[in-house]
Amino acid sequence: MTRSILQTYFGDDSPRVREQVTRVVRQMKTKSVRSCYTLRIDEDANMPERLQRNLIGQSSGVAGYARKTGPPVIIINRRFLRGNPNGIPSVLLHELSHHAAQTDDIGYYRGGNYKMGSSDVQLDETQLLSNADTYSEFIDQF
Ligand SMILES: [Zn+2]
Repeated sequence: MTRSILQTYFGDDSPRVREQVTRVVRQMKTKSVRSCYTLRIDEDANMPERLQRNLIGQSSGVAGYARKTGPPVIIINRRFLRGNPNGIPSVLLHELSHHAAQTDDIGYYRGGNYKMGSSDVQLDETQLLSNADTYSEFIDQF
């Protein structure tokens, strides 16, 4: 039996999961349509230190960031932009999920696994439903 795309990314396709994923994706859509986002390109050194710590041991470094509240601003790391121009849509979706739906960084999706720092992390269903990278990877499939 094949797994549904919701099972693949969120571990389940129950009504509860469908409802939560729909809610977050709608919030992202509404916010992106109604708000005028500022996209800023900034240097590696100006990325928040707390995010640098989350990514120790990963060559990609901080791709970008956005605050969960406040003005709609998404900052993209210039070094990431140069090295991964095809990765920009995923970064924008990830950051939009933070700002529009207050998602968290519980694990970063790398090659089929979630990582935090240099460690693999296992996310349970509740964590998958509030994790920014889960939404960016999920939406990036369409
Ligand atoms: Zn993030």
